[in-house]
Amino acid sequence: MRVIDIIRSDRVTVSCELFPPKIGQPLHDIRRVVREIAQLQPSFISVTCGAGGSTGDHTVEVAREVQVENGVTALAHMTCLSTARAEILTTLEKLREYGVENILAIRGDLPENRESLRMDYAHASDLIGEIRRFGGFSVGGACYPEGHPESESKRADLDGIRRKVDAGCEFLTTQMFFDNNILYNFLFRLLKHGIQVPVIAGIMPVTREKQVKRIFQLSGTTVPPRFRAIVDRFSDNPAAMKQAGIAYATEQIIDLIANGVSHVHIYTMNQPDIAGSIMLNLSEIFR
Ligand code: FAD
Repeated sequence: MRVIDIIRSDRVTVSCELFPPKIGQPLHDIRRVVREIAQLQPSFISVTCGAGGSTGDHTVEVAREVQVENGVTALAHMTCLSTARAEILTTLEKLREYGVENILAIRGDLPENRESLRMDYAHASDLIGEIRRFGGFSVGGACYPEGHPESESKRADLDGIRRKVDAGCEFLTTQMFFDNNILYNFLFRLLKHGIQVPVIAGIMPVTREKQVKRIFQLSGTTVPPRFRAIVDRFSDNPAAMKQAGIAYATEQIIDLIANGVSHVHIYTMNQPDIAGSIMLNLSEIFR
């Protein structure tokens, strides 16, 4: 099924993200992760892709596992910055062959060594246009409630999003955020800028100290005092940190849905038990 058709319905949707193993690493662990997440019956499962290119990892195989072996709608991520057009077209053929109908088209982060860039596509909007010309896919893009770090201003950021929508992007998935007011403010600005495609709110359950450090280093992600207090109090107690992280994500989602945000995407970090706990906490709300 197409993601755009799933999220156009009036229902609350909850989807999950997982990442494939690096090339050369076995697929059996991820098969278990896919199976366990599929058993939670999410609206769809997205599979990330390395910034190195569309065929640089196991994204296509894992998307196939989601769609064909587990019968859940798959959304394959595809990056373009370091990928030649011929490779993109080959990947699109493969996804079509496997019956995967959905792509999250993203640029990828700029590598330190810019010489590896092929630059057939400089921006996500270029890739989105290519996929729409190829045909047969529902295409989404990324967005950043606090602005993409490379954007000169919030307005320039919105212009970048508009280019994606004009190129054929049908829905947007957000970067993680820990303060819902930041999302509400962003949604308001999107509407004011005439951008009306559905937005899926990306929620990251932060359950380990290692994750916390990385998030604190991520430029542009605001860490609210309430979240910081949880981390200060529980980060040296892994079981308590996990419980608090699940509770924080659960509360964030309840507030989003109560305020009319109907589509939530859980960054599972390949941990079905964490996604499962959140979905259990919200079983009546997601019904
Ligand atoms: P773009 O839309 O190309 O935007 C990048 C910057 O360029 C922005 O500042 C934008 O304002 C600006 N811009 C856009 N168009 C133009 C233009 N025509 N002229 C000038 N400036 C322009 N990375 C991965 O490697 N793999 C993944 O699987 C992955 N999944 C992600 C999923 C989500 C939901 C999100 C939010 C991010 C994901 N990323 C992933 C990270 C992403 O690759 C980086 O954030 C990257 O730096 C930007 O990607 P983009 O698609 O938003 O780029």
